[in-house]
Amino acid sequence: MPRLYHYVGPADVATSAGTGPGRPLPPAGPLPADGPLPPPGPLVAGEIFTYVVSPAGILLLAPRNSEHVACAGGAPVLAAGEISFRHDDGWHVDQVTNQSTGYCPEPSCWPAVAAALDAAGIRHDDAFTAEFTFRRCPACAAVNLVKEDVFLCDLCGADLPPGWNVG
Ligand SMILES: [Zn+2]
Repeated sequence: MPRLYHYVGPADVATSAGTGPGRPLPPAGPLPADGPLPPPGPLVAGEIFTYVVSPAGILLLAPRNSEHVACAGGAPVLAAGEISFRHDDGWHVDQVTNQSTGYCPEPSCWPAVAAALDAAGIRHDDAFTAEFTFRRCPACAAVNLVKEDVFLCDLCGADLPPGWNVG
């Protein structure tokens, strides 16, 4: 079973995140058997979106300045991050990451993203274009973004554990 990530950010952000849930991809209605997604869809080439993958495996998109917890409608997620697209002979993922301080998903959530993109008929590479590693400090409880494999807390300098512990 894939891990379900629950919101771990500040409670005041969760309660004030009022932009509403993200738009599902694909949009409502059947997709064509081949060819590009019909415009106007939620996709805009070159624009960076906030995304989450819902527990049902649906990719939800929201404007980049949206909180992931708002994009998810407050629900837990299979994956979260930022994503952009390009369009030539069809829709492709351009950049996709697991960068979400609201959910702090592991890079290992990639298969959920890939499956949601496959379901939407959007081509993609075989991994995140950039991976982020989050850990909670066991000493001061701060959530850290681990940089350059240095597992030390930014705030208090304590060692961060090798395994994911944010949830
Ligand atoms: Zn600390």
